[in-house]
Amino acid sequence: MEQENKSKKGLIIFILIIVAVIIGVATALLLAKGDVKKLESVFTGGEAVKVTAKIELVGDQEITIPYQEEFQESGFTATDEKLGDITESVEVVKEEINENEYNLIYKVTDSNKNVVEAKRHVILTDEIPPVITLNGNKNVYVNTGTEYVDEGATAVDEKNGDVSGSIVVEGSVDTSKTGLYILTYKATDNSGNEAVNERYVAVSEAGKVIAQDGTQGKKGVIYLTFDDGPTQSSTPQILDILDKKGVKATFFILNFDEAGAELVKREHESGHTVAIHGYSHTYSAIYQSVDTYMNNITKLQDKIMETIGVNATITRFPGGSSNTISRHYCTKIMTTLAYEMVARGYTYFDWNVDSDDAGSAKSSDDVYKNVTSHLSKDKANVVLMHDFANNTKTIGALERIIDYGLENGYTFEVITPDTQMVTHTTNN
Ligand SMILES: [Zn+2]
Repeated sequence: MEQENKSKKGLIIFILIIVAVIIGVATALLLAKGDVKKLESVFTGGEAVKVTAKIELVGDQEITIPYQEEFQESGFTATDEKLGDITESVEVVKEEINENEYNLIYKVTDSNKNVVEAKRHVILTDEIPPVITLNGNKNVYVNTGTEYVDEGATAVDEKNGDVSGSIVVEGSVDTSKTGLYILTYKATDNSGNEAVNERYVAVSEAGKVIAQDGTQGKKGVIYLTFDDGPTQSSTPQILDILDKKGVKATFFILNFDEAGAELVKREHESGHTVAIHGYSHTYSAIYQSVDTYMNNITKLQDKIMETIGVNATITRFPGGSSNTISRHYCTKIMTTLAYEMVARGYTYFDWNVDSDDAGSAKSSDDVYKNVTSHLSKDKANVVLMHDFANNTKTIGALERIIDYGLENGYTFEVITPDTQMVTHTTNN
């Protein structure tokens, strides 16, 4: 009997344990299926932790700005149900995501000591292409039959640093054929911004420089050029007309006095290019030798530097590179100088539209016709004119020439160190 009771008790305990386990498992399953958050809110919610503040951002929550620009805060406000305006208590923390984006976290503590947050996502863009620098000169002359070895280039990006590895060169030089060859260098930064630079390789026969006639330059562009100034009787009037029309030009100047310096300054400040014709224009003196010519260049180059702080490297030979008068003073000097100037990093420009205002043009109408009848959309147009003293013919024609160009879809540009040369064939 005792024994029986003991085993009955044991059975009851066993059943109780089973029931407890079943209840436990069922509860666990219910909890897992149910809305945990809801349960949590029941456990942790309540008046004590109620959020009483909110932050409102002014402007977009996601903004995109150039990486080099400072982020400009467009504003925010924070209000608390009990404390009122608590904007001044907002703390802004920058949270880096990667080098191209970050979050701004706006934080404030409400009356119940809850930390309330708002977030602004800032994306940085890079729209600045790298800069390609050519090794060696932009303009190169080689003789037919010689080997051309390109010196290459480097590319540096403001954001990504050295991106020379991305450089691709298009084009090639065939030294068995005379002509102008253009090598195009392209470089890309990490954001896909592309930079382009060009090298101009002219292949010519020994003893002669073949013309670059402008057909490979910027088509439909007019480069107005004025030689032999500055002069008080012509240059100011020409500058007035250019100003009035909003057109920029290139002045190939000679040596100048103090009053002339003011005109050179005005040319520069108005956005025109100040280029070198020569300290002197006297053929017999300047074409004696390479040295006499180079001295004639550097003397004026130094003076331009002193006057306007510009290192002028764009030049025009007095008489043009095709002149034959230099034969009287030095054999083959123009071909030698053409190579020499380019090798020393200068460019030189002849012309392919001649106003003939230093020659047979007798009136403004003649100047107008000489220019407008030779302009072409299929080439870069380098127009030869002069601002020597009392050049009323050109002064009288200039505005009409500009109007003609504008009405016929041409654009006016200044010659820069990057402008492809327009040259004649040398004859000496
Ligand atoms: Zn001249």
